[in-house]
Amino acid sequence: MKIDLTGNPFVDTGLAVIAARAHLEDVRDLTLDTIRTVHGDGIQLTSWNSSLKNFTMIFTSNSLLTNPAIKDKAKRAKSYRAVLGGLLSKIGIEELSKRCEACGTYRSVDFVTLCRTALAGIEIKDQPRFIGRDWFPLSGSLGSDAQALPAASRPVNLCAKCLFAIHYLPLGLILLDGRLAVFQSTSIEFWYELVRDIVIEVEVRITAGIYDTFGAKEGSKALVKRLLSLFRRLQAEQRSNLQPGTALQVWRFTNSGASPECAIEEIPNPALVFLQKAVQHGLDQEIETLIGNEGKKERTLFRCITERKDYFRLYPKGKWTGASPKLFALYQAHVCERSGRALTLAHTLAKERAKELRPKDLERLRREEAFKERSVRNQFQSLIAELSQKRKFSLNDYLVLFPLREDVPGIQVHGDGWRLVRYYLHHVDDSNIEITCSASSEGCSPKLVLLRFYSIRILQHYVQERGKERFQSEVLNRIRRGEIGALWLRRQFTSLAETYPGFSYGMWEQLCRNERGGLILHELLFQMRILWSGLLTQAHPSGITLQNCERSSGLPTAVETYLRELFARYTEQRGLKRFHRDVLVRLRRKEIGLGWFEHQIRNTGWKPSQLALFSADEWENFLRDENGRPLAEERLFQMHLLFANLYRGATVDHKEQEESS
Ligand SMILES: [Zn+2]
Repeated sequence: MKIDLTGNPFVDTGLAVIAARAHLEDVRDLTLDTIRTVHGDGIQLTSWNSSLKNFTMIFTSNSLLTNPAIKDKAKRAKSYRAVLGGLLSKIGIEELSKRCEACGTYRSVDFVTLCRTALAGIEIKDQPRFIGRDWFPLSGSLGSDAQALPAASRPVNLCAKCLFAIHYLPLGLILLDGRLAVFQSTSIEFWYELVRDIVIEVEVRITAGIYDTFGAKEGSKALVKRLLSLFRRLQAEQRSNLQPGTALQVWRFTNSGASPECAIEEIPNPALVFLQKAVQHGLDQEIETLIGNEGKKERTLFRCITERKDYFRLYPKGKWTGASPKLFALYQAHVCERSGRALTLAHTLAKERAKELRPKDLERLRREEAFKERSVRNQFQSLIAELSQKRKFSLNDYLVLFPLREDVPGIQVHGDGWRLVRYYLHHVDDSNIEITCSASSEGCSPKLVLLRFYSIRILQHYVQERGKERFQSEVLNRIRRGEIGALWLRRQFTSLAETYPGFSYGMWEQLCRNERGGLILHELLFQMRILWSGLLTQAHPSGITLQNCERSSGLPTAVETYLRELFARYTEQRGLKRFHRDVLVRLRRKEIGLGWFEHQIRNTGWKPSQLALFSADEWENFLRDENGRPLAEERLFQMHLLFANLYRGATVDHKEQEESS
């Protein structure tokens, strides 16, 4: 009779242990006859299980084999062996028509009767025996579960195969961070090889009289080492093909004490591929050394590859110059999903910068904290800008290294790229950064679209009005000197809004505000600078259109309505051209400002039938935010921008009317 795997990782590990002990190449070749041959009279398993340290962790100390209430150890062993023998004889011929709750087969064993029959000849207390945690781990404890879940207050139903196989579990598991661990995988071949390795080693240890569990003192290191050694073996046997997408689930559990529990973690496919490739490239020894030095409190390699996060030990610290460039690149590519392009760019930046530095200054930049300093980051940003003017670095390059953050408002980037640059500052002359996988994705994020739209619009308009040379000297050179900021960008918005759509206050906020409402311009202007440097050398940069434009004015509705009415009346009485000349141009030249708006809003001159919109106090409130901070500059910007947008809207209508008439 063929014995199939069940899908229950505990039972399946037991079955794999039996298959491994029978030296089967494929766990799927397991038959009932094989199980009988491996088990024999059961004396060996009983003897091993009574000594293996993990046995009571799996089956509690209440197990018939270890129960201290039965004084005679030989009697315990005899009883345990008799029940196992009884279970083996029932596989496939269970009498209860109840579904097995581990594998789902439609038969369950009558455990009470089975035990009574098996234990008949042994002088042991005659009592009904049920399936509890002492026979099948985590099978529910009457003590605690029943109180919360009355429906669970009965023993589980299990088939003989599941109940029998699980007693081979002690030979096939390891300890991982203090919990017992069994494995499950999308690839049966890979999983079986992993269990086989464990079984073989346990057997060797038993022969040497060692009964404690693997990994007891090593935390998660044991598992990483185990996987490395498995990949080494598979490679030696020329079977190193990990099936595509193979991932490994680790079921960590405890069955002892009052709080049995189980947690499942996945070692994702890229992490396995990383370990496998490390073995292929002969980097496994280096990894073992790295994890060998892990301290108790730091994030372990296992944690990092499981969560696909960067691993701190790869990086230089003190006298340690970090992992080898080959291992570093492999890790970045597979675990952190960084493109080869990002690594090459980081290496280029490090090399270019190092070229110009005296050894002493280079040492300073290599420090662990160096990139926390704004001045250091500025050095590199200047370098990037220089390179972009020589067309050696593009905005796309920059964003490969410092991806735009889509999870927060405004133009903000992930700063992890600095870590890469710092790493390569220690490996300037290494050329071993080529990796084979993952091309950089130059997808166009919504934020990148925004950035391009505004950069190109501003550049085109400026060049049209004043030419390229003036853009270079008045914009690029001034940005370099840090002379361009919010004021300049606001002015671009208010003047471009007269002619082009998209320059609303809502869009300004999308570009320039962070999650706390603060103004963030450094990153935005830096990225515009790189883009402009590249665009300036092109004859006609192609513009893009903006799909969804946020039109909000940022003003209280009453104020907006009031200003709209004011605009309508003004242009009705004096015409659009005069509005442009008398209001917009003068606002731009700062000949009029907040005082003019105050006058309009607090006086009734143009609308005598109504009261003024604001009293003096209300006007003061209008110029402060909810926390009382001054808002005057922002309000002026909002009102100016609203007028500029109203003007553009009216000009378009005006043109359409002229064209249709
Ligand atoms: Zn079953």
